[in-house]
Amino acid sequence: MSSPIRIGITGVGKIARDQHLPALERNERFELIASASRNANINGIRSFDTLDAMLEGAPELDAVSLCTPPQVRYRQACAAINAGRHVFLEKPPGVTLSEVEDLAERARQTGVTLFASWHAREAAAVERAREWLGSAAIRHVDVQWREDVRTWHPGQQWVWQPGGLGVFDPGINALSIMTRILPNEFFLERARLEVPENCQAPIAAELDFTDAGETPIHADFDWRQTGPQTWQITVETERGTLLLEEGGSRLSIDGEILIDGEDVEYAGLYRRFAELIDAGQSEVDVRPFRHVADAFMLAERIVVAPFDE
Ligand code: NAP
Repeated sequence: MSSPIRIGITGVGKIARDQHLPALERNERFELIASASRNANINGIRSFDTLDAMLEGAPELDAVSLCTPPQVRYRQACAAINAGRHVFLEKPPGVTLSEVEDLAERARQTGVTLFASWHAREAAAVERAREWLGSAAIRHVDVQWREDVRTWHPGQQWVWQPGGLGVFDPGINALSIMTRILPNEFFLERARLEVPENCQAPIAAELDFTDAGETPIHADFDWRQTGPQTWQITVETERGTLLLEEGGSRLSIDGEILIDGEDVEYAGLYRRFAELIDAGQSEVDVRPFRHVADAFMLAERIVVAPFDE
C-alpha cells in the first residue's frame, strides 16, 4: 500500500467537525497531522492559527483541506498550491468563477491535485440515478430543496454577506446532483430571488431552466422551512418517474424504493481525493457554480422581511 497522505485541515468549524474529521479518521490513506484555525484546536495534532503558519511549521504536509467559508478560499488555496500541496476545496469552490479557474491553472502548472468537491454527488443513490436516466427521454424535472437556515448555519454571518451565496449554499448541492444525473446540459431561463432587506444574499430562489430539447426544469430553494426538511429531485420520463430524496441518498422509481442509503458522502469525497492524488490529476467541475452565477446575473430580485437569528 502507498504511504499515507499527510493532511492538514484549515477552518475547524461546523463542517470540519461534523464530516471531515470522522471521514479522515476512517480513511487509512490519510493521516491528519495538523490544523489551522484562529479559534479552534483538534486534540492530539499540531495546531496553528493560520494556514501560512501551518504550511511553514508542518513541512511534511502533502495536502490540505480548506473548510473555511468561500470568501477566504482563494488566498488559502493559492498559498497551499504555491507551497506544492494538494488541495481539497469545500463547496462552493470560491466566490467567483474566474478565481476558481485561476486556481485550476495554478494547480496544473505546479503539478499538484486540486479537488473542487461536491459532497452531494457522493450521496448513496446519485450514481444509480445517473445510470437510470442515461437513456431516458425526460419530460419534466422538479427540484425542491427547502431547509431551515437556523438549524444548518446557526449564527453564521458569512452566508448572508457577498460571496456567501445565501440559499444557494445548500441549493448548489441540488445543482451539483442535477449536473451529474441529467443527461443533457441545461441553462437558466428565468429566476426570482427573495433577499431579506438586511442581507446581501437570497433566502429563497425560484429557478426555471431548460435545455436544447426545451425540457422544463424547475427548482425551488428555500431557507425558511421549519419541521421536516426537503431535499428532493423528481424526474418524469417516458418510462417512469424517478425520485431522489434525502439529498440523494434515497432513490425510487414509480414509487418503488431501490436504494435507501447511509450517509457516505465524505467517505466518498476522501476516497476520490486520494485517487486523484495517486493519479496526478485534478477535478474542477464548475458547472454547479456557474448556474449560481447565472442566477445572480439574470434574476428578478424581491426584497422580503429582514432575517433575524
Ligand atoms: P463555519 O463553521 O462558519 O466556518 C468554518 C471555520 O472557518 C470557522 O469555524 C472559522 O474557524 C473559520 N473561518 C470563518 N471565517 C473565517 C475568515 N474570515 N478567515 C479565516 N477563517 C475563517 O462554516 P461551515 O458551516 O463549516 O462551512 C464551511 C464550508 O463548508 C462552506 O463553504 C460550506 O458551504 C461548506 N459546507 C458546510 C456544511 C454545513 O452543514 N454547515 C455542509 C457541507 C459543506 P476559526 O475562527 O477557528 O478560524
